[in-house]
Amino acid sequence: MRKKTVVVTGGAGFIGSHLCDRLISKGFKVICLDNFITGTPDNISQLSKNKDFIFIRHNVTTFIKIKGNVDYVLHFASLASPRDYLQYPIQTLKSGSLGTHNALGLAKEKKAVFLLASTSEIYGDPLVHPQTETYWGHVNCVGVRGCYDESKRFAEALTMAYHRIHKIDTRIVRIFNTYGPRMRLQDGRVVPNFIYQSLKGLPITVYGRGEQTRSFCYIDDLVEGLLRLLARGVNSPVNLGNPREFTILQLAKLLIEMTSAKSRIVFKPLPEDDPKQRQPDIGLAKKILKWQPKVCLAEGLTKTIAWFRENI
Ligand code: NAD
Ligand code: UDP
Repeated sequence: MRKKTVVVTGGAGFIGSHLCDRLISKGFKVICLDNFITGTPDNISQLSKNKDFIFIRHNVTTFIKIKGNVDYVLHFASLASPRDYLQYPIQTLKSGSLGTHNALGLAKEKKAVFLLASTSEIYGDPLVHPQTETYWGHVNCVGVRGCYDESKRFAEALTMAYHRIHKIDTRIVRIFNTYGPRMRLQDGRVVPNFIYQSLKGLPITVYGRGEQTRSFCYIDDLVEGLLRLLARGVNSPVNLGNPREFTILQLAKLLIEMTSAKSRIVFKPLPEDDPKQRQPDIGLAKKILKWQPKVCLAEGLTKTIAWFRENI
């Protein structure tokens, strides 16, 4: 029987590469598209000799042409770290708009199931807590984070339009802060930043007073949720993340303790429009996917720190 073929855009990135690994181990054929703007060949080197894995260097903001059958298109290509999307706002907007259009076009052409990697950022600086899928969000479209938030909101709208008009079988996953091995050492996001700083004995840079909150999901839990969502025909958005909420100061102190770091905490200005609180309501995922995260923060950080120690 023919193996099912999955196209993963952004497959050489942090989440995308873990997804490629998992899909290959489950018997899929994987075609990974990436332009390496933030991803690296190292993330997929373990797959390079696998006959079911094909890598194509391609910028998804230009037309995507793939030969043969495609059963699933998983669209993960986007700048994702605030540091990256503040540096590349136009590329970010183009990945979310043109990139999503091209990826949806591929799914339409191949009659494939389409999954959009959306984000908790579509809720902006939320006024509803925890965030449920029914909340429409609180986004500053002209602020510095608007390039990311609005690109993903547009991507969600386009996905729903392709679903309604072209009858594409679509999924939208709103991913909350996910971390783990293969995040770039200096990615700029809080978990890799704090681990890098701790291991190097550098000051830990807490923005603002560190009272803002995030809820951190380990990569293996997220990938499990993604595969369950793919298998389940739910077209409306679904939150995936770990509902345990921490302040950023708590995270900094925990990492100093876990790495026995000599680092001290320094307070830096809070970036513009930095969301004050974030916690997913995962009631829907629990109900329809029978999914909830299994890895607690200490366990996930232990694995992530071990990987950072090897790669620093
Ligand atoms: P990442 O930066 O590691 O991965 C993104 C990948 O997309 C990289 O390999 C990059 O090179 C590639 N890419 C970007 N623009 C491209 C383009 N135009 N053409 C081809 N490839 C391109 O980030 P990540 O954390 O793995 O994020 C992956 C996806 O998940 C993104 O869509 C992001 O918005 C979403 N997401 C991630 C998180 C998280 O906490 N990690 C949270 C919410 C949403
Ligand atoms: N943050 C911080 N120090 C850092 C990096 C990030 O205090 O060195 C804070 C940031 O201001 C935000 C939270 O950590 O409140 C999470 O930031 P991240 O960049 O990981 O992603 P976000 O959740 O904001 O998209």
